[in-house]
Amino acid sequence: MSNPGPDGIPKVDGPRGWGVIKILGRHLWPKNELALRVRVMIALVLLVVAKVTNVYVPLLYKDAVDALGTPAAQAVAVPIALIVAYGAARVLAQAFGEIRDAIFAPVAQRAIRNLALEVFGHLHALSLRFHLERQTGGISRVIERGTQGMDFLIRFTTFNILPTLFEIVLVGGILWSLYDWRFSVVTLVVVGVYIVFSIVFSEWRIKFVRSMNEADTDANAKAIDSLLNFETVKYFGNEPHEARRYDVGRRRYEDAAIRSSRTLSLLNIGQGTIIAVGLVAVMAMAGQGVIAGTMTIGDFVAVNAFLIQLYMPLNMLGFAYREIRNALVNMEKMFGLLDVPAEIADRPGAPPLAVAGAEIVFDHVDFCYEPSRPILHDVSFRVAPGHTVAIVGSSGAGKSTISRILFRFYDVSAGHVRIDGQDIRDVQQSSLRAAIGVVPQDTVLFNDTIYYNIAYGRPGASREEVEEAARLARIHDFIVALPQGYEATVGERGLKLSGGEKQRVAIARTILKNPRILLFDEATSALDTRTEQEIQRSLEEVSRGRTTVIIAHRLSTIINADEIIVLDRGRVAERGRHGELLARNGLYADMWRRQQEAAAAAERRVEEPASFRAEGHLRVGD
Ligand code: ATP
Repeated sequence: MSNPGPDGIPKVDGPRGWGVIKILGRHLWPKNELALRVRVMIALVLLVVAKVTNVYVPLLYKDAVDALGTPAAQAVAVPIALIVAYGAARVLAQAFGEIRDAIFAPVAQRAIRNLALEVFGHLHALSLRFHLERQTGGISRVIERGTQGMDFLIRFTTFNILPTLFEIVLVGGILWSLYDWRFSVVTLVVVGVYIVFSIVFSEWRIKFVRSMNEADTDANAKAIDSLLNFETVKYFGNEPHEARRYDVGRRRYEDAAIRSSRTLSLLNIGQGTIIAVGLVAVMAMAGQGVIAGTMTIGDFVAVNAFLIQLYMPLNMLGFAYREIRNALVNMEKMFGLLDVPAEIADRPGAPPLAVAGAEIVFDHVDFCYEPSRPILHDVSFRVAPGHTVAIVGSSGAGKSTISRILFRFYDVSAGHVRIDGQDIRDVQQSSLRAAIGVVPQDTVLFNDTIYYNIAYGRPGASREEVEEAARLARIHDFIVALPQGYEATVGERGLKLSGGEKQRVAIARTILKNPRILLFDEATSALDTRTEQEIQRSLEEVSRGRTTVIIAHRLSTIINADEIIVLDRGRVAERGRHGELLARNGLYADMWRRQQEAAAAAERRVEEPASFRAEGHLRVGD
């Protein structure tokens, strides 16, 4: 996959035009949904009935006009009956159309729902790489516009374009059989010119619609990004800068929208002219017929009524075509998302991970996010079942990368990662992820209640279980002290909680998940020393008997680990237990010393002002 496009969505070529319609067709004639298919059939029958009835309307009108003009008009009953029949035919034509809509609505809505669900499901199936590149605001606009486009397309292709084409053929046939072949030829030629003109012109205009959409998506992505970074914007007083960035997209949208609207006016004028020319030609022919005595006045008005009746939907057709092109453009982008391949996919027929003791093996693993920049080199280690291994190293050494690989957010470039002897690429991702509980470096919460966020670890857990997990994570007391208790909301991404509180919620939900393997990525980094020690105890309690990988900065938290792996620029530099590594007097010992010195210095800083105060106090006392 290439880099993101201007709208922040990784560039993909979605299906164009017919491809989109085919996907839609599959949903409108759904497999295994007999009831919906029956509805489609009934709607189609009603469609034909409505159109045939509609075609009768001008014929009844003609008969009424002729009946009024003949001596038989003395028998008033005939024209009256015809006029009533004319009215009835109009009402029926409309009623059939409405019933058809009502019968078809569930089919259309189901198609929209299924497609939206498919896109949503697919987005979740895409890799972390895709999601790191995308811009939330951009994607949400693409889905929103795509769904609207779908709704429009379904309504218009099924009930406007197809029926109108059917009606055109029907009216052409009637004009031919009732009057003169020349009438139907002129009518059909005008319709043909109209359609060709509309298509060619609309195709030319489509680029304005595309750039309108791109600008809209871009502006929206910027707006959402800016709002998500609300605090940062304030820290730097950069509101005008943000407004300018947003305005770039809006200005592009403005330009494209103006061009789009101007070209639309041209299109409308062109279409109107074509229809007027056709109408005048046919009416002139009919007028001649009346003068020559080959046609009645009734025929004259009927021809007019036919043409008006035909050109009205034709005008709609022009509108529908334009809108359908817009809808297709919108949907292309959404279906483009469906075409993004999932980078990490299950092998066909992959079995679920069979967890026994949960032994983890990294076997000569190489990894890079981008080929030009290798991150891990020949990393090998083993975590015996139920044991704890800590990974330490300087910032950027690749520690979190190891956890992402174990969780299979990315696949290794070389080597193997095995759990209980099974290469994690050969098993179902869902089973792998079910076996691993992660407390990430930066916890992000759902904008919901604390209860919801903890229970997320295992939907369906009982209240007691949720509270027990909160107790183990040392957050229960904090929660019950809140005015709303467990029902307190945490704000977007959990921002209403402190870093330490968020981390404890994350620990609680992982405890609730109860996995065989635990992965703590600096799980206690946001906590003060006292809470850290408390949580450390509960983490040790939770990880007893579970295979655990701890990624840590503060070495004091991992001195009891069964093995410590020291990473240096993506390579394993040292390994061993805390005591052994200190004795080795290498990188680890160096890191340990520096951290101890820093801690001692911090303590001194806390004590010194206190001693100054004490001295001062003494002097005052003297
Ligand atoms: P820290 O202690 O600061 O969290 P770390 O050891 O956990 O660091 P990693 O997050 O594993 O470091 O990152 C290792 C390297 O990979 C870093 O240099 C980082 O810039 C790079 N990196 C991380 N994620 C990506 C990504 N998605 N795309 C490209 N490079 C990445």
